[in-house]
Amino acid sequence: MAALFKARRALGLCLSCRSFSALAELSETHQLLRQTCRDFADRELTPIAGKLDKEHAFPKKQIQDLGALGVMAIEVPEELGGAGMDYLAYSLAMEEISRGCASTGVVVSVNNSLYIGPILKNGTEEQKQQWITPFTTGEKVGCFGLSEPGNGSDAGAASTVALQDGEDWVLNGTKAWITNSWEASATIVFATTDKKLKHKGISAFLIPMPHPGLSLGKKEDKLGIKASSTANIIMEDCRIPLGNMLGPRGAGFKIAMQTLDSGRIGIASQALGIAQASLDCAADYALKRVAFGAPIGKLQAIQFKLADMGVAVESARLLTWKAALLRDSKQPFTKEAAMAKLAASEAATFCAHQAIQVLGGMGYVTDMPAERHYRDARITEIYEGTSEIQRLVIAGQILKEYQ
Ligand SMILES: Cc1cc2nc3c(=O)[nH]c(=O)nc-3n(C[C@H](O)[C@H](O)[C@H](O)COP(=O)(O)OP(=O)(O)OC[C@H]3O[C@@H](n4cnc5c(N)ncnc54)[C@H](O)[C@@H]3O)c2cc1C
Repeated sequence: MAALFKARRALGLCLSCRSFSALAELSETHQLLRQTCRDFADRELTPIAGKLDKEHAFPKKQIQDLGALGVMAIEVPEELGGAGMDYLAYSLAMEEISRGCASTGVVVSVNNSLYIGPILKNGTEEQKQQWITPFTTGEKVGCFGLSEPGNGSDAGAASTVALQDGEDWVLNGTKAWITNSWEASATIVFATTDKKLKHKGISAFLIPMPHPGLSLGKKEDKLGIKASSTANIIMEDCRIPLGNMLGPRGAGFKIAMQTLDSGRIGIASQALGIAQASLDCAADYALKRVAFGAPIGKLQAIQFKLADMGVAVESARLLTWKAALLRDSKQPFTKEAAMAKLAASEAATFCAHQAIQVLGGMGYVTDMPAERHYRDARITEIYEGTSEIQRLVIAGQILKEYQ
């Protein structure tokens, strides 16, 4: 018993027994979901991830199949067509899917947390029916337009403008780097309705795609997550009804920041999946590859790499689950989500780097997945807030606690 209390304190969790036990042992429902996603990844994603990457091919069928499993709308209540599960469930699903294919992971993540998430939290009942339900099945995906060519980290400096004209909003501006944009059937766009108010003048809007006045830029040729599309969304006198504003006028920046708080748990989980896949690949190779008459896994130099990778994965997973559990129990989680994203993305980069070293020459060619993990890992340190921005968020929260 004493050991249990000590462990609880060591975890630093002021959470219920349910939350603690979720860290020590997942509930049956969570275990089932995790196993279902793990089996799906092993069967449907891992074998084709390299091909999707090489061909820059959107995983359409896989996304539809994940929709059928409820994974495209995990937190959405069943009456709106979702799985009605919690954020820990979302994190578990994201890790397993990304372990198989990180590109598929980001498509799932954007639909769940960046597109559906803010509508679920801020939308009217009518908006939820119209803009969420058709996006729960995997037939349609949504996207999220916050970044612009002139500002990414500094999202409050948005220059896209929305002006009221009669019964419409008219939008002009360009959103940059938008994941899912080429396949999306709708986007959330953040635009300023009053420049003088700076970030307090930003509002959120819902736009169907395709739509008159809205066009797409070229597909970006990326280092990794090549099976997901990334492109500019260009709005030129793009007219939408007044009712397409999401949340109150001027609440857009707050909605974006709240959305990213939650989204970071998803990206942490994607990074965890990449880190775990790198460890799996390295450990498997270490057992099989013989050098100097014995498997290289017998060499202490290789063992130490595997040990360091294991520690990075497990510690990032605990941080990620902690952030998800705090969110599920309606406690503040901004700091923990930023910590989880920072630790998991750095773990992914570290593990992918180490995996290539363990594989030697085989790590450097596309016959093995290690080089793809290395390329895919890198983006997790950039999108939904760079590692520098996560450190700013964490430090800001820590300083607040000491005031
Ligand atoms: C593949 C991909 C997919 C993406 N998907 C989406 C999407 O779906 N929707 C969307 O809206 N955006 C998306 N983005 C954009 C992404 O969120 C931004 O690239 C990211 O926020 C960084 O912005 P930036 O590229 O403008 O870099 P900048 O903000 O210009 O930053 C450049 C460098 O300066 C550092 N820096 C900036 N400000 C500070 C500061 N205050 N303190 C310390 N360092 C700082 C940054 O950390 C970085 O190292 C995507 C990007 C990529 C590459």
